[in-house]
Amino acid sequence: MTEAKNRLQCVLSRINHATSQSNRPANTVQLLAVSKTWPADAQRLLAKQGQQHFGENYVQEAVDKIAALTDLSLVWHFIGPIQSNKTRDIAHHFDWVHSVDRLKIASRLSEQRPADFPPLNICLQVNIDQEDTKAGITAEHLFELAAAVSPLENIVLRGLMVIPKATDDKTLQHAAFQRAHKLFIQLQQRYPTVDTLSMGMSADLEAAIAEGSTLVRIGTALFGDRAPKMPQ
Ligand SMILES: *Cc1c(COP(=O)(O)O)cnc(C)c1O
Repeated sequence: MTEAKNRLQCVLSRINHATSQSNRPANTVQLLAVSKTWPADAQRLLAKQGQQHFGENYVQEAVDKIAALTDLSLVWHFIGPIQSNKTRDIAHHFDWVHSVDRLKIASRLSEQRPADFPPLNICLQVNIDQEDTKAGITAEHLFELAAAVSPLENIVLRGLMVIPKATDDKTLQHAAFQRAHKLFIQLQQRYPTVDTLSMGMSADLEAAIAEGSTLVRIGTALFGDRAPKMPQ
């Protein structure tokens, strides 16, 4: 077995195990392969094993890799911080954006989405542990933002994304994911298009799945430790 195949099967079996341990139906958690800093060749190897969804954090790096992989039918998710001068590239090249945390960015993405493309799928990023250093809207202002974003023409509100404070404490991991799940359920009650709760990474996917994640974003466990960051 190749290393890419090995790593993918290992992550998929962690996901399946966590799903069944949580008494959730099989195949209700999607795997997003987070390929930031890894070259397009590494993505190609994983795509050959059947992986279709890829997450990227840096716009220029991603645009180059997307261009190199157009022969494959992949789904591209933008998960990094968004500067307003990058929204055009994001709106033109991606299928999903997980990191929307203000109306200005959502409006620009909607305006700049090409008219002949399907609407851009949007998750709102919530700063679930209220960390000063982290992006994301506060839980308190989430519904205000959702109400402003959901009518925008060329985007569709699909759910929430959270990156809790890094901790080895399982109780804290579960508590943060549980708070996110509660917000997700409330959002889903108001907006029927909401079906995605993007939470869980290499170190905490089990806790995230136990608390209701529908999509885990996995980098290190699939690709290894981060390759040196490419120049922008
Ligand atoms: C890098 C990154 C991940 C993947 O993290 P790993 O710990 O490498 O699995 C997930 N989500 C976001 C937003 C990231 O930036």
